[in-house]
Amino acid sequence: MLSIVSTPIGNLGDITLRAVNALRTCDAIVCEDTRVTGHLLHLLNLPKKELISFHGYTNPEKADAIIERLKSNQHLCIVSDAGTPAISDPGYVLVSKVRAAELPVEVLPGPSAFLAALSVSGLPINQFTYLGFLPLKKGRQTLLKSFINEERTIVFYESPHRIQRTLLELATVLADQPNRPIVIARELTKMHEEVTCTTIGALKAMVEAMTVKGEFVVVIGGKA
Ligand code: SAM
Repeated sequence: MLSIVSTPIGNLGDITLRAVNALRTCDAIVCEDTRVTGHLLHLLNLPKKELISFHGYTNPEKADAIIERLKSNQHLCIVSDAGTPAISDPGYVLVSKVRAAELPVEVLPGPSAFLAALSVSGLPINQFTYLGFLPLKKGRQTLLKSFINEERTIVFYESPHRIQRTLLELATVLADQPNRPIVIARELTKMHEEVTCTTIGALKAMVEAMTVKGEFVVVIGGKA
């Protein structure tokens, strides 16, 4: 059995009982960074486990070796460094191979940064479009321009190195919609959690004064 296990995005208290139990009892844990997952086990007072590193650029043969272990009835968990595996994180390749092999797979849901940001944003979220990380070059301008007529709430991840540049680009592309709401969620569930609710028209002034340390999710209200 493969268990897809979500882990906290900052606050250890967000680990679920099911996650703790699965991480304690499984045969091995497939993870992004063995140091990060080893540290999580330590913080949770869980016994040391075999950790199998698996990321986006891992040799596909490694996935085949994991499949073989699942075929011999081992119980493996897959985690990412934080949040839900396969959501802008490694995991998809392995889960799709497990499905193709018709082996059992279960999900242990829990934290995910984009869901936390959406729910705290106060923006309409009965429908939304999740974009992961925006492309850096190819297709970036086309995607940003598509926001002009997007009626659903938009949510995406951004790194601290690019957050200011991206917000300034949004201020330019959406300049004709100054009242459109935008929420910048920083360091959710952590000590310096900050949720800034503003508008496209007020973005430029805000960007100059903002703190750029930490992790960010950006949520934009749909076109009115
Ligand atoms: N799989 C993860 C999930 O379910 O949330 C997302 C992985 S993605 C590689 C990491 C990005 O999520 C960060 O660059 C940041 O944009 C966002 N993120 C993660 N933790 C966050 C937090 N505590 N507060 C705000 N954004 C966060």
